Amino acid sequence: MPLREAMLYERLPGNRVRCNLCGRRCLIPEGGYGFCRVRKNQSGKLYSLNYAKACAAHADPIGKKPLVHFHPGALVMSIATVGCNFRCRFCDNWSISQETDIRGTYFPPETVVKAAREHECQGISYTYTEPTVFFEYAYDTAVLAHKQGLFNTFVTNGYMTPEAVRTIAPYLDAATVDFKGGGDPEFYKRFSSVPSVNPIYESLKEMKRQNIHVEVTNLIVPKIGDSMDGIVELATWIRENLGADTPFHLLRFHPDYKLNNISSTEIRTLEEAYEAATESGLNYVYLGNVPGHRYENTYCPECGERLIERYGFSIVKWRLTEDMKCPSCGKKIPIVGKFHKEGFSFPYSLL
Ligand code: SF4
Repeated sequence: MPLREAMLYERLPGNRVRCNLCGRRCLIPEGGYGFCRVRKNQSGKLYSLNYAKACAAHADPIGKKPLVHFHPGALVMSIATVGCNFRCRFCDNWSISQETDIRGTYFPPETVVKAAREHECQGISYTYTEPTVFFEYAYDTAVLAHKQGLFNTFVTNGYMTPEAVRTIAPYLDAATVDFKGGGDPEFYKRFSSVPSVNPIYESLKEMKRQNIHVEVTNLIVPKIGDSMDGIVELATWIRENLGADTPFHLLRFHPDYKLNNISSTEIRTLEEAYEAATESGLNYVYLGNVPGHRYENTYCPECGERLIERYGFSIVKWRLTEDMKCPSCGKKIPIVGKFHKEGFSFPYSLL
């Protein structure tokens, strides 16, 4: 398979290159690799080493991303390659995100789109690892997917440059942007090796300008990343910059990878965070990784009516009207796309 030349980089004197895909903006000498380990400078040109090398391909319910205000009930073909621009010590996909061997099954864009249609998916999700570091693969697939009437979604740490957001924007319909530890810069430095969190906020603002549907998550890590002041600060930033109707998911932490000596987040901490985010003015706050909890549901912010009941990634009961209004008070609920009530099979792997 020929190597794919990278998008969004500059050639510099001395055969060096500058990658402008993510906030790191790596300066890479000839023969060198980017921080993500999957982009290499060969003779003054930057190449993507993981193009079309899928390490995961599953048909998933869209609620798993999580996206709950975008085509609820849809099934999405979910693909990933190895590599990441973060080094999170708690990553639950560490075996692929931190993999140094660029392994994978050849699964080109045409095959991804064909598989999505064959498995009755309504869209494609670029997920599990960071899609920014397999940008060219995601971009080519997304272009083809749109031609076939499928939507595209990113599950991302948000560490993209505004140029990267603008480039993919015509083909990117929705994004889940994942925060950790309430966005605390010290937490990011210490546990994810990220020098500055500013690029995340900049890319979120660019997504908003580009009319991409955005849902934000925040992983609450007990003791080291569970400050309620941090939750309030992040929720307030979301309300002021993305709007009060932006879904905000507070996720339960489970011990994994190098941070396996910390227990799971207490339910009462998650509930406290839920209350703090709601009181900060967000209309749609959710808890994640707590199947069966009442805060997985959607409630009408006007009258409190329970509108969508969920269990984990599944929709158990749908009570909105055809035109997405609360049946009790008539409030319009901001949901993009239609409700896919056909249901879905359990997630399964294609590789
Ligand atoms: S994607 Fe990010 S980490 Fe990878 S080479 Fe480009 S700037 Fe560096």
